[in-house]
Amino acid sequence: MSEFDYDLFVIGAGSGGVRAARMAATYGAKVAIAEEYRVGGTCVIRGCVPKKLMVYASKFSHEFEDAAGFGWTVGESQFDWNTLIANKDAEIDRLNGLYIKNLERHNVEIIQSRAELEAPHRIRLTGEDRSVTARTILIATGGVPNLPLDLPGVEHLITSNEVFHLDEQPKRVLITGGGYIALEFAGIFNGLGTETTVLYRGEEILRGFDDDVRATLHEEMEKRGVRIVLHDVLTSVEKKADGLHVTTKQGETMVVDQILSGIGRSPYTKGLGLETVGVELDSKGAIKVDAQNRTNVDHIYAVGDVTNRVNLTPVAIREGAALAETLFNDNPTIVDYENIPTAVFTQPEIGTVGMTEAEAIATHDNLDIYLAKFRPMKNTLAGNDEKMLMKLIVDADSDKVLGCHILGPDSGEMSQLLGIAIKMGATKANFDATMAVHPTASEELVTMKEPSKRIRKDD
Ligand code: FAD
Repeated sequence: MSEFDYDLFVIGAGSGGVRAARMAATYGAKVAIAEEYRVGGTCVIRGCVPKKLMVYASKFSHEFEDAAGFGWTVGESQFDWNTLIANKDAEIDRLNGLYIKNLERHNVEIIQSRAELEAPHRIRLTGEDRSVTARTILIATGGVPNLPLDLPGVEHLITSNEVFHLDEQPKRVLITGGGYIALEFAGIFNGLGTETTVLYRGEEILRGFDDDVRATLHEEMEKRGVRIVLHDVLTSVEKKADGLHVTTKQGETMVVDQILSGIGRSPYTKGLGLETVGVELDSKGAIKVDAQNRTNVDHIYAVGDVTNRVNLTPVAIREGAALAETLFNDNPTIVDYENIPTAVFTQPEIGTVGMTEAEAIATHDNLDIYLAKFRPMKNTLAGNDEKMLMKLIVDADSDKVLGCHILGPDSGEMSQLLGIAIKMGATKANFDATMAVHPTASEELVTMKEPSKRIRKDD
């Protein structure tokens, strides 16, 4: 008999926790996983998946507009919020059921309760008023949305947690923040017919992405009808009979039906008992781990958003898998964070992999930048002025493609495939040697002949 109840106890059944638990159990470990809300975690329950379903819903209005140029007369269209939410919820329930079944099939014990650390090897299950012990503990509690807590009227704001369950579609929405979650919801609401404003304190939306992509996205979102206000923050919110009355630092006043706070997320460590067992956090409150996901306490590990490395589902999954491989399959595995392809489901969409121009300038002497901005074929008959952007950043010394950035239809799908090429170290000559697929938008990637800009160390 083991001296512990479990070989591995996982706190949080999201992307990282579920993968680690399932794989560890496959390798013969006795595993339990505690979940305080719903198995599946942020991505499945209130993140990537429901969001993408809502993005699909919101795209129809643009398709209806484009259809006329192709000869279609689209009758009067109507959107019903409650139908979308009910169908989306049914799909999320289905996925939640699949996750539960899958864990059970692999003999992972699911404990529907909040879990907190009580002692180095002891976990308190607050929902069941009992404690269990484990040889190894994995913290995979994810992140929580930030709120501006000192804002007068903050209680009237919602976050991405609530936005998926609003009783009715807001007629007017204000979204604060300029990150990908804020901007994706701006596209969703705008497409569904809600009057949408984005309020962001920074200089340009989508910090961290390539500057050409950011500026073009801004332009195209405004063309589609999203109002974007920069250099500004909320100063007060007051609820009145006709809606939420908003004032901003720059003196804007607005009346809206909902305010979605999209000002980022923080690691979810509150009340976990980390101080009791001495697990160290960094200055942003994330759990500090080494390359093998181990905290400063030998038998306690952490993966996913709670470690605030690269906060994406596939990364959390890889970290969870690496942990199970390392600890329970005698196969030390380290996650490779280089050249992670990413999609942003704004409208237009973004697909990107590798360095931005600014990052490349900071690390390389000589660069060739290839930039194409054009109207994709479908938009010609549609009479739609929206532009597509493709950009390659090439190291002029080695010819290696350091980064590729696309804005436009299906660019998320393209980034997955480009990710393979760039991960393999593709050169511009490899791109040039690849035959074009015609007629597609992506053929532009293999037909860009002359750099639009040459950046040289000695210039
Ligand atoms: P999570 O998936 O957040 O899971 C943590 C789980 O732990 C939760 O279920 C939580 O309830 C539970 N928990 C927390 N504390 C306790 C406790 N003490 N006891 C028991 N249970 C606990 N990523 C992408 O790759 N692509 C996208 O398109 C994308 N879109 C997103 C859209 C939105 C709106 C949001 C919010 C996120 C999105 N993400 C996306 C990010 C992605 O959801 C996260 O990176 C991913 O879910 C992280 O996985 P995780 O395992 O670290 O944590």
